[in-house]
Amino acid sequence: RKPRVAVVFGGRSSEHGISCVTAGSVLAAIDRDKYDVVPVGIATDGRWVLEADEPAALAIRDNRLPAVDGGRAPVALLGGDGKADLVVAEPARVPQVLGEVDVVFPLLHGPWGEDGTIQGLLEMAGVRYVGSGVLASAVGMDKVYMKIAFQAAGLPVTPGIVISRREWEQDQAGAIARLTDLGFPCFAKPPRSGSSIGISRVDRVEQVADAMELALRYDAKVLVEVAMLGAREIECGVLGTVDADAETTRPGEVRAGGEHTFYDFEAKYLADQQTRIDIPADLPADVEQQVRAMALRAFEALSCEGLARVDFFLMPDGSLIINELNTMPGFTPTSMYPQMWAESGLTYPELVDRLITLALSRDTGLR
Ligand code: ATP
Ligand code: MG
Ligand code: MG
Ligand code: MG
Repeated sequence: RKPRVAVVFGGRSSEHGISCVTAGSVLAAIDRDKYDVVPVGIATDGRWVLEADEPAALAIRDNRLPAVDGGRAPVALLGGDGKADLVVAEPARVPQVLGEVDVVFPLLHGPWGEDGTIQGLLEMAGVRYVGSGVLASAVGMDKVYMKIAFQAAGLPVTPGIVISRREWEQDQAGAIARLTDLGFPCFAKPPRSGSSIGISRVDRVEQVADAMELALRYDAKVLVEVAMLGAREIECGVLGTVDADAETTRPGEVRAGGEHTFYDFEAKYLADQQTRIDIPADLPADVEQQVRAMALRAFEALSCEGLARVDFFLMPDGSLIINELNTMPGFTPTSMYPQMWAESGLTYPELVDRLITLALSRDTGLR
């Protein structure tokens, strides 16, 4: 019998819509002669929905992204209105559903999916899955702890401070003073997010309150980082397993143009004419080698598995700083991670197959 692959998508996070778009591409790329496929959607309210395996039915309606609205994106692609007969499982019954598959591809971004929670569920159920395990997923999801792990591994990171919701509510003046000490411009971000959702560039003290309040809509704490002025944004893909040497792509570069002062949500997904992507990035050979070596060290520092995309700042003085690592990077055929692999000779369907094959070879510890 063919291995049965469950593609889990959607989810409760603010990146629900992005995940649905990605799932449409992955479902269309999986080799049906080799695998049986079970698409499983997670609605924004946490219900699990079993879809008929029809990639066409999962195509993006009107070719538009479901709106991202304060973390409550609509249930996209789940049979439209998410009718009751589609619902197969309340969260508590999920392990039964998963018991019938050989491997899970958790195509989820953000909290409740990219953060170790589904990975823990799958570990407990003894089901193999694509990508990083519990620890790497959890650390990779929280930029505060990710920074600590990178620093401990001797990797250069952007300086930053953490302001909790409690501090913001109880001592706003003190929080603003700490932030001012860090210096402007700075970036305020919800540490457990992605796709630039909730991130603001703060140039002046008058902008602090709006930036804090936006970030606090997505998390209970805010990471404020010194802005890396004049930096080029370089990204590198990693593919492999801790049991063997992982491989890296040639680095790519992203440049948000037009009115975008940084690589924000719009620049990532909506304003493609203004955002320039160079793959490979135009870099001196020694810098390229350094990016790839650092990407591998970052992958190892978090004990990642399967895949990761490491985002760097290349400073005007030539030094490299790690911005962040994504354990489930954007994965549509036009996303950076698959594009960088394509440049390195691995097509999108081949990449999907490699990831599933890697996952199937893993030990569940169960006999
Ligand atoms: P992703 O979609 O890559 O997961 P994310 O939501 O995790 O993104 P970051 O990559 O940390 O967020 O930041 C998003 C963008 O904001 C960066 O690509 C960059 O353009 C800008 N940015 C973030 N932090 C800084 C900083 N310290 N200095 C300069 N620019 C920054
Ligand atoms: Mg990220
Ligand atoms: Mg992300
Ligand atoms: Mg990033």
